[in-house]
This record gives sequence, structure tokens and C-alpha cells, in this order.
Amino acid sequence: MTISQTLSKPEEFNCVACKRQVSSVWREASEFLKACWVPGECLHCAEEIRKRKIEEEKMKLAGAFQAAGIAKRFLDKTFGNYEIDLMHQAQSKNVAILRNFAEQFESCSKKGMCLMLLGGVGSGKTHLASALVKYLIERKRTAMMITILRLLRSVKECYAKDSKSRESSVIKQIETVELLVIDEVGMQFQSEAESVIIFDIMNARYEAVKPTVLISNLNFMEIEKILGSRLIDRFYEGESKILIFDWESWRKKQRSSV
Ligand SMILES: [Zn+2]
Repeated sequence: MTISQTLSKPEEFNCVACKRQVSSVWREASEFLKACWVPGECLHCAEEIRKRKIEEEKMKLAGAFQAAGIAKRFLDKTFGNYEIDLMHQAQSKNVAILRNFAEQFESCSKKGMCLMLLGGVGSGKTHLASALVKYLIERKRTAMMITILRLLRSVKECYAKDSKSRESSVIKQIETVELLVIDEVGMQFQSEAESVIIFDIMNARYEAVKPTVLISNLNFMEIEKILGSRLIDRFYEGESKILIFDWESWRKKQRSSV
């Protein structure tokens, strides 16, 4: 039965899809149609379709998060499920700054605001950066997270190929994406090459008024040494912020509390 069918009297019928019994419903008269009995909607199938759509949307988003470079174990990370230790005021401050950066992305971008997240392993930098990237993707913006090692490898691969492939490469994506997060800065051996590449990318993004977030386990002195004062100076233009994550690793804490 189709919804356009009308019935002469109320009757029961079986859903074509699930064979469950469905009642007919009384349709009130409208401008063009007379009042009559029509086959009702199968609530079971309608619910199944609704659930499937939600599931499909979730899968699509998870695919988009992974394509944006979010590692599998960070796929469920949000600002909401970051556990703030009230002993560390800086934690709530850092979360508030990152959350505000996500929510006010349009105006932060226009100001040329960049962020640097510095602190030890397990302090939650990647959790919050993943939450930021996910927040933007959910709102149909473009964002990407990449480790410095992958970025350097992509640049090298890129220059080994012809100029045509360079155009459509990861590098192009890195330069054009609305938010770029570079993780594990300082994890490489060729710091000078890294510094030049990061400068070029950040400079191109700065010119295009597109923000970049850098994440590193190093402290400010060490990162300044690696990136050079030229990049640090550029970084400080446009209300950029350095967030320090100087608390104990939650993984270490979890282990010690067991
Ligand atoms: Zn059904």
C-alpha cells in the first residue's frame, strides 16, 4: 500500500517491509482532498530508518575525522570529556581558550590568531586539539591534524615528484585548510629543515589569514630554539597564544591510582 491510497473503511494491513500489522489513520479534509481513511505509517520501520540515518551520519563524520588526521583513539575526544583537575587552574584556562577558539573560529581566524600547546606527554594537548578539529568539521569547516614527521615526509615526497602532483598534494591541502594542527613538533632530527618548512607553511597560512596550531612536548626555550625567533615573532602577531600544559600525565596518574 502507498500513502496516496485511500480506504473505504478503517482496516488493518501488513507493512510491506517488516510484515508487522499497521492500522489505517483518518486523514482530515484539506483544500484539495476529501477526508478519508489512509494506510498509517509503520512506526517500527520509521524508527529503523531514523536510527539508520543517525548511524550513517555518525559513520560519515568518523570518516571525515579520520581523513582530517584524527587518530582512532582520539575519535571520541571532545571538550566535554576532557577531565579538568581543579588543582590546576591552568587546565580550565587552557580548555576555555581552546573552546573559545573553536566557537569563535571566524573572528579568531580574522585576527590571525594562532595557538601553541606546550607540555609533557599525556597532558591532554592532543585530546583538546582533536576536539577542536572535530568541532570545526562537525560545522562543515575544513581542518587537518598532521604530525611533523608526516608533514616532512609529505614535503619530501612532493618535491621528488613533478610539479603537477605538487599542486594537488598534501602540501596544497596544508596551505588551504581553514585550520591546520601540527603535532609532535620537535620530534625530528633535522631541526633546521623542519624550521624552514614550518616557517614556509605558517607564513603562507599567515598571508592567507588561516590559523595554525602547533603542539610540542618541548618547553618554550626549546621550541624557540627549533623554530627560530623569526617564526616566534611572526607567531606573536595577531593575538596568538601559548598554552602551557605543565601537569602530570593523566596516564601516569591513572597508573599510580590503581
Ligand atoms: Zn514496517
